[in-house]
Amino acid sequence: MDTELEALGITEAVMDKAMAAMTADLKPLAERHGVSVMRLLNGWHDDISGAYFYGYTSAALAGKEGRELSQHAAVAILYAFGQSSNPAVRAHAEELRAELARKAYRLINDQARAAGSNPTYRPLACTECSAGEYRDDLPADPKWDAEDARWRCKNCGRPFDLRDLQLEAGEDWAIRDHVLGLIDKPEQEEEE
Ligand SMILES: [Zn+2]
Repeated sequence: MDTELEALGITEAVMDKAMAAMTADLKPLAERHGVSVMRLLNGWHDDISGAYFYGYTSAALAGKEGRELSQHAAVAILYAFGQSSNPAVRAHAEELRAELARKAYRLINDQARAAGSNPTYRPLACTECSAGEYRDDLPADPKWDAEDARWRCKNCGRPFDLRDLQLEAGEDWAIRDHVLGLIDKPEQEEEE
């Protein structure tokens, strides 16, 4: 490995960790296309494959592990896509955003933090109609093309979108009676 890279902290161990995480995350997508992860990457525009390589490398370099590594890489990748002037890259960014939204549904599901008795709980309002709350017990609305979305607006049926995932400092997700909402984070959780 190049010693200049090593001086930057980009050691073989960092690269191995980054590539292992990237391969694992891209495997389902590669399988859907019936190719290996390497074939998938080679078939992409350089802006796309480059964004993946640098995104995962920067997350590994920052010492991230597991799901956190993937999340940091995803943010870096989306940022890099935003810098591309190539329409194909922007189209891919759309696909990735949909993928991320699905991950976000699962993440919220996995981490479903009970609102419990936290008095700061408030339901999240639908960004489409402002009139509904997001529930996880509604059937898919054929008007919206997202059968696997977990959260849907009670009023207009719009699936919850990743772009609505904007927490203020000190806020956290909470779910109460099938309704997606926010709470103010208890102070002792700050350490994690
Ligand atoms: Zn709505």
